[in-house]
Amino acid sequence: MAQKFQSVRGFNDILPADTVIWQRVEAAARETFTAYGYGEIRIPLLESTALFKRAIGDATDVVEKEMFSFDDRDSGNLTLRPEFTAGLVRAGLEHGLLHNQQQRLWCMGPVFRHERPQAGRYRQFHQLDVEAYGIPGPDVDIEIVALSARLLRRLGLADLTLELNSLGEGDARVAYRAALVEYLERYESSLDEDSRRRLKTNPLRVLDSKVPATQEIARDAPLLLDHLDSVSRAHFDALRQGLEDLGIDYVVNPRIVRGLDYYTRTVFEWTTTRLGSQGTVLAGGRYDGLVAQLGGSPSPAIGWASGIERLILLLKAQGDIEAPPLADIYVCVLGEQAQRPAARLAEQLRDSGFSVVLNVGGGKLPAQFKRADRSGARFALVLGDVEAAAEQVQVKSLRDAASPQETCTWAELPARLRSLFTVL
Ligand code: ATP
Ligand code: MG
Repeated sequence: MAQKFQSVRGFNDILPADTVIWQRVEAAARETFTAYGYGEIRIPLLESTALFKRAIGDATDVVEKEMFSFDDRDSGNLTLRPEFTAGLVRAGLEHGLLHNQQQRLWCMGPVFRHERPQAGRYRQFHQLDVEAYGIPGPDVDIEIVALSARLLRRLGLADLTLELNSLGEGDARVAYRAALVEYLERYESSLDEDSRRRLKTNPLRVLDSKVPATQEIARDAPLLLDHLDSVSRAHFDALRQGLEDLGIDYVVNPRIVRGLDYYTRTVFEWTTTRLGSQGTVLAGGRYDGLVAQLGGSPSPAIGWASGIERLILLLKAQGDIEAPPLADIYVCVLGEQAQRPAARLAEQLRDSGFSVVLNVGGGKLPAQFKRADRSGARFALVLGDVEAAAEQVQVKSLRDAASPQETCTWAELPARLRSLFTVL
C-alpha cells in the first residue's frame, strides 16, 4: 500500500472554512495599522542563528530550546524565525532605516518555535507584529498600546485585560537584580531546575516561571516597580496618564517580565481567562538597547506581537463568527449547448464585480441546486439552450423559496442583481 503522509507535528493546515476567519483578522489588522500610519515590511523566514542568539538572549526559552536551527550547506547555521523583532532590526540596519529617524513598521506571517504542541501553542504559528523606532516615548508607548486596544476592539474581542509593568533600566535595574537574586537564593533548593539555572543567567525570568512551587516563592519576591529609577518612574506614570486620557483601562501587574531578554521599561500584555494557560493574546514592550546591541547606533524602540491562532480561538470561543459565502451567484447550466454561453455570461458578471461560481461537470438540475446551496450564493441563474439563444436567464433566490423565479435579459442582469442584493 502506498505510504500515507501527515503534516509535521505542531504544523497545521488551515482549511477554507477557517481561512475566511483568518482573512477577517488580517484585514482588521491591516486597517488598524494603516489608521496609525504604520508601513508594512516583509522579511525572510530564515536568518542566521547568531542574530537570534544575540537579539533574544542565550538564557531565554526561545534560544535555549525552541529554535528550528540547521546547518546550511553554504550559509552556516540558520534558524527559522521564532519572532519578527530581530530580523526587523537586522533589515532596518541593513537598509539604513533606523539611523537617526523615526520608523513605524508592521509585519505579519508565520513564526516557528519548537514547543510542546497543545491548544493555542503550535510549532508554526502566526504573528501580527508592530514596531516603532527612534522615539524615546512615552508618547509613542501610548500610541502603540492604543493601536493594540483598537485592533482588539475592532475584532470584537471582549473580556480582555491590559496588564502593564515597567522593568526600569540602568543602575536601578542592576540594583534590583541583586536584591532579587539575594531573595531567590534563600529559597534556591525549592526552586525548579530551570529557575535554579536562571538564577545565575537571567533571574528576572524566574518571576515568569509557570511551575507552581516557584510561582509561590516568586509571589513574595521584591518588585521591580518598587525599585524604578526616577526617569523610568516618570515614563511609566506618563504612559498610565496617557492611557487614562484615551479611556483605555489597564491594571498594573508588577509580575510581568516577558520572555525575551531585550525589554527595558514598558512591558504589557493583553490577557484572557478563556484560553486556559495560553491566556496571553498580545504582548510587547520597549527595547531601547536592541538596535545598538545588533551593531546600529543607539535607537529607542517599542513594539508588540500577537498570536493570530489565539485571537481566532478567542473569536470562536465567543461564537460570533459567521463565514461569509464563497460566491454571490451560482450559474446552473441546462443542456450541453448552454455551457459555452454560460461561461461567457459568468465572465460578464465577474466584469460587473460579482463573484460567480459556474456549474461545471454537468449534472441534473437538483444536483446543481444542491451545489448552489453549498456555495452560499444568494441567487442561482438557470441557463438552458432556449434562454442562451435569446441571451436571457432565469433568476432564482436561494434564500427565499417563496420568491418567484423571474426572467431577465443578460443586458439588464447586472442592474437587476444589484437591486436584488440591496433589498436583501
Ligand atoms: P508564552 O508565554 O505563551 O509562551 P511568549 O512570551 O513566548 O508566550 P511572545 O514571544 O511574546 O510569546 O509572542 C507573542 C504572542 O505570540 C504571544 O502572546 C502569543 O499570543 C503568541 N504565541 C507565542 N508562542 C506561541 C505558540 N507556540 N503558538 C501559538 N501562539 C504563540
Ligand atoms: Mg513562549
